[in-house]
Amino acid sequence: MLLGAAFVQVTGAEDGAAHLVAFRLYEAGLMSGAGRYAAMCGKAVLAASMATAPVRRCPLCRASLSEPES
Ligand SMILES: [Zn+2]
Repeated sequence: MLLGAAFVQVTGAEDGAAHLVAFRLYEAGLMSGAGRYAAMCGKAVLAASMATAPVRRCPLCRASLSEPES
């Protein structure tokens, strides 16, 4: 799921929150094969299945983008 061009939304398997991962870091995570992505909030997010809908948004990721809650 792309948010604009620069960020990918990744649902955390551990916290169920929708984190934002910079596209470059998302690619790096894919390359590593570990299934973890460095989110904007500083967490290494373990990606949930694509079918898993996030229960909430990660507020720290949103804050780091200065994106208002909607
Ligand atoms: Zn986050």
